[in-house]
Amino acid sequence: MKYDDDKFYEFHEKDDSDMCFVCRKDMPSLMIFRQIETMLLVHLCRDCVYENIADYLLDNTRPWIGDRKI
Ligand SMILES: [Zn+2]
Repeated sequence: MKYDDDKFYEFHEKDDSDMCFVCRKDMPSLMIFRQIETMLLVHLCRDCVYENIADYLLDNTRPWIGDRKI
């Protein structure tokens, strides 16, 4: 899938779609957030969202489909 605005949807280089960006646990349900510090996208588990909500923005501007391609 290709979007013209791909540059706004870059994932953090240390992000992994199979694990939480913060606690590095392999969680069944991860949500995509934007890290305010870098403005890059990361996957977070619910626990880390609650604990770090000041540092991340929910990014639901696009329906995410399948695996990330970066
Ligand atoms: Zn976590």
